Amino acid sequence: MLKVKLIEHTPNPEKLVAAAARLCYSQDDLDEIFSDLSDENTQKFLEMLISMGHESPIEHISFTFAISGVSRSLLAQITRHRIASFSVRSQRYVSEDNFEYITPPEIEADKEALEIFKASMDKSLQDYKKLSDILYKKHYEKYLSDGFSEKEASMKAEKKAIEDARYVLPNACETKMALTMNARSLLNFFKLRCCMRAQWEIRALAIEMLKEVKKVAPTIFKFAGPSCVHTGCREGKMSCGLAKEMKEFYNNL
Ligand SMILES: Cc1cc2nc3c(=O)[nH]c(=O)nc-3n(C[C@H](O)[C@H](O)[C@H](O)COP(=O)(O)OP(=O)(O)OC[C@H]3O[C@@H](n4cnc5c(N)ncnc54)[C@H](O)[C@@H]3O)c2cc1C
Repeated sequence: MLKVKLIEHTPNPEKLVAAAARLCYSQDDLDEIFSDLSDENTQKFLEMLISMGHESPIEHISFTFAISGVSRSLLAQITRHRIASFSVRSQRYVSEDNFEYITPPEIEADKEALEIFKASMDKSLQDYKKLSDILYKKHYEKYLSDGFSEKEASMKAEKKAIEDARYVLPNACETKMALTMNARSLLNFFKLRCCMRAQWEIRALAIEMLKEVKKVAPTIFKFAGPSCVHTGCREGKMSCGLAKEMKEFYNNL
């Protein structure tokens, strides 16, 4: 099951952004501006900043999420976002001999499709285990003959075996990651991935991430979401035509 938690973020995120932006138009030092800013002025300044599209000051604040219950398919998509930092559970170092998997809702809803899907997952798991065993034995013998102790040979053989056996694992395989993005990159992420054109799994993740950051930086993320929510749909012929519904959904998130 998808799990998203904002585990850390820059302290006083909105005040810091407002102070950094204000520095651009002030003779004072940043620390003075920061300590002099009231909540009311922070709010006013942020609203002005957002309406002007002056986005670089929001790069000063970062958000770190703990994400689990997502597929390797999602991983391929999310890591395309280059202005971000990732740490992902390794399939080279961690065995997948009991892997969980993500079932797409459309497959879940169809009895026949679900049977095929489950059988495919079981087959992948069995093949993964068989390959791991075959490769483990081969590497273990080799490491022993190279003079490693039984314990060392076993650890090295297991790692070497699973790094090849993993090639049979499915895209549906569950993964976990730590993800850090600054607020500007997050706004771009939400614009692309909250859109109805984004794939269902990454859209569900983006919505949960947006809910989390709205709790700690409500003004900065007030208009976050697909472009139709704030500026207007940019999808042209591919538009879902649901701008009104999207606006309502994201304004009430
Ligand atoms: C609906 C949808 C469908 C997609 N389909 C495909 C697909 O079929 N095939 C595919 O390969 N990808 C696909 N993508 C991925 C997409 O092309 C982007 O790689 C991904 O969304 C990351 O977006 P980004 O580059 O804006 O983000 P980031 O990498 O985080 O970059 C943020 C911003 O920084 C700037 N930037 C970053 N790097 C550079 C650079 N090298 N040069 C200039 N500016 C830079 C850009 O302004 C960019 O928008 C799809 C994405 C979506 C949302």
